[in-house]
Amino acid sequence: MTDTTPARRSGGEVARPGRDAKPPRRSVLPAPGQGFGLTFAQMFKKVTTEEYPFEPKVTKPRYHGRHVLNRHPDGLEKCVGCELCAWACPADAIYVEGGDNTEDERYSPGERYGRVYQINYLRCIFCGLCIEACPTRSLTMSNDFELADDNRRDLIYTKEQLMAPLLPGMEAPPHPMRLGDDEKDYYVRTPNPANPAEPVVGEKV
Ligand code: SF4
Ligand code: SF4
Repeated sequence: MTDTTPARRSGGEVARPGRDAKPPRRSVLPAPGQGFGLTFAQMFKKVTTEEYPFEPKVTKPRYHGRHVLNRHPDGLEKCVGCELCAWACPADAIYVEGGDNTEDERYSPGERYGRVYQINYLRCIFCGLCIEACPTRSLTMSNDFELADDNRRDLIYTKEQLMAPLLPGMEAPPHPMRLGDDEKDYYVRTPNPANPAEPVVGEKV
């Protein structure tokens, strides 16, 4: 069996691992020689210079970058103006004002939509708490990290800058609900006829 008893030094004192380690051996070179030796050794190491912006860096897939306000497949906005993202933000970076949808002017399924939406990138710390708080998965984060600018005003992004682009088959709001008569039709999948046993769960896209 291995002896795990701490080593004892002369006089019965117990040696403490780490704190009582032996001091490093002194170099025979004078201090300037040691310094230049370190510099000289670097010349033979692999260069890790990033050629940004000529070669843009590829981020990890789940990198927290600029936010996106997403749309439903028919183009209506997923944001319902609930302000939960703004309340969750520890940096007070989000400003939301909700508005009422009407049958003549509808921007999202349901009663409300995000009439004003702003994110202040001078404050944002990219923690992702806002996207965790969003109940409709309207707010997500992209991998875009190029957010520098030369003035403060342009770093407050507006709803128009944050909205996801319209994909083929989408229609620019305002327009009526195209995916059903009720807002639940946008969030709850209907049973799969090919597999009726498959559970019907809330949409998370
Ligand atoms: S990522 Fe964090 S700091 Fe930035 S807006 Fe969201 S909650 Fe606020
Ligand atoms: S982005 Fe999400 S949490 Fe924020 S106001 Fe819109 S629906 Fe609510």
